[in-house]
Amino acid sequence: MAWGGAVPEGCREAYYRQSNRCSACRRSVRDKTPIEWTEATWNPVTGCDKVSPGCAHCYAETFAERFRGVPGHPYEQGFDLKLWPDRLEAPLRWRRPRTIFVNSMSDLFHPGIPDDYLQRVFEVMEAAHWHVFQILTKRHERLAELAPDLPWPSNLWMGVSIENRRYVQRADYLRKVPAAVRFISAEPLLGSLETLHLEGIDWLIAGGESGPHHRPVRVDWLRQLRDMCAQSGVAFFFKQWGGRYPKVGGRLLDDKVWSEKPSPDPTRWTVTRPAG
Ligand code: SF4
Repeated sequence: MAWGGAVPEGCREAYYRQSNRCSACRRSVRDKTPIEWTEATWNPVTGCDKVSPGCAHCYAETFAERFRGVPGHPYEQGFDLKLWPDRLEAPLRWRRPRTIFVNSMSDLFHPGIPDDYLQRVFEVMEAAHWHVFQILTKRHERLAELAPDLPWPSNLWMGVSIENRRYVQRADYLRKVPAAVRFISAEPLLGSLETLHLEGIDWLIAGGESGPHHRPVRVDWLRQLRDMCAQSGVAFFFKQWGGRYPKVGGRLLDDKVWSEKPSPDPTRWTVTRPAG
């Protein structure tokens, strides 16, 4: 998660509450997000558990735990896993097409999410064909296990997070998934990913960690990824240097903003919409 330093606190809370307006600036924030590589978020599940070093300073957890025990607050249960069936059909009501990051406050392949609930989430994404949905997981094994039983329409992008070389095998599991776009989020980047193979990968997002305990990213790790992407024909997106606040270090890498976007591969998806 990434917020600019100037975002009002009311906006943050309204955003996470999925309410209509920020009490501080009156902006409509229900489905907006400041995450640079998407346009909106949808959280049919909230809460999670840590699985690898990239989770150490999980912003979603920090945010959710602030409200643990607050009666009536959407995060009254803190960061404990919670299904929100009443949010399932929200994207079907958003008529304007947009790119939607699914479960920014959880991990859709968390083992506590029942298979049939996951299936319903995927059915909504298939039905809401005018949007593009982006899913990101660190549960690569469950993703690969369930993928053959899930619909993979052309508007679904699937990604895995890889923070250091110990987790590059997540890309191998992702390669088994017939998503129109397969992407890697190397954020927070905690080490060199020189052993990462990019065959069958369409997009790579890289970035440094932000927050009071951020672990610094090194420029040679980023240049290495950028150059590997260029050699493999993979779109490269540099999100941020990170630091005390997400935008404090800016987005320039060697004096350039890297905001490349991928093209969906029409040979992969398993669901074809009927014409008309
Ligand atoms: S998998 Fe994602 S949401 Fe879950 S704890 Fe780790 S960083 Fe947070």
